[in-house]
Amino acid sequence: MPEVESLARFLSEKCVGRVIAGVELTAFSALKTYAPPLSALHGLEIESVTRHGKFIDIAAQGLHLVFHLARAGWLRWSDELPTAPARPGKGPLALRLRLDNGAGFNLTEAGTQRKLAIHVVSDPQLIPMVATLGPDPLEDSFDQAALAAVLAKAGRAQLKGVLKDQRIIAGIGNAYSDEILHAARLSPFKPSNSLTDAELSVLYQAVKGELSGAIARAEGLAAKDLKGEKKSSLRVHGRKGEPCDVCGTPIAEVSFADSSLQYCPTCQTGGKLLADRRLSRLLK
Ligand SMILES: [Zn+2]
Repeated sequence: MPEVESLARFLSEKCVGRVIAGVELTAFSALKTYAPPLSALHGLEIESVTRHGKFIDIAAQGLHLVFHLARAGWLRWSDELPTAPARPGKGPLALRLRLDNGAGFNLTEAGTQRKLAIHVVSDPQLIPMVATLGPDPLEDSFDQAALAAVLAKAGRAQLKGVLKDQRIIAGIGNAYSDEILHAARLSPFKPSNSLTDAELSVLYQAVKGELSGAIARAEGLAAKDLKGEKKSSLRVHGRKGEPCDVCGTPIAEVSFADSSLQYCPTCQTGGKLLADRRLSRLLK
């Protein structure tokens, strides 16, 4: 989410006050709404670019172009877009938005997953996944009591899953949940309602610190540089086998839900390796 926040700030600087000159869709399955049509955006002035969880919301005179980039999706900004209309093809291009000054962006999705989701709505709350988002940890109102409340509600669910669940806390994905738990020195498998006051306080600082640190590092970067910045600054996520930068222990990995997580056994689990519970369930 920090990179989505940075992207929203970048777009806000580039787009607010400009008029939408055209929107061309080339990956038809990415558009999840059919009324109002994409063409309804033509000629409207962009008033704001904001973020809801991991969704970006471009508001223009009563309509909203809202998109979720998912894992393989990205936005490529251009100060000078090609003038030829975008055509459906085999490439990663899904949608092109043109501004009245010739600039604009391409939404792309690499690979074959097709998870990029684009919506045109009169109110972002009409999108079920936006309407059900939990509190946003970057909001000032998200204080330690707010974190305590969402963890209590999550019961014995494991911290890793709870931090990633958009309905519980909005905007934290697979990478930053690993980073937050490493910074807080907590086991990803710890039940959410089992934290001491001290652990809660450390987790709260880690949530705020990891996210705001990432946003500060991304400040001023162009859209194309955001993903690289994110990857190079992660300390545990995606670093299986590399030494922990706190204690030197090799970072470990375990399967979790439909992907995997990375953690430091020394810093986070008292030296114990976490067992793949999906596998042990299968073997029983
Ligand atoms: Zn460590």
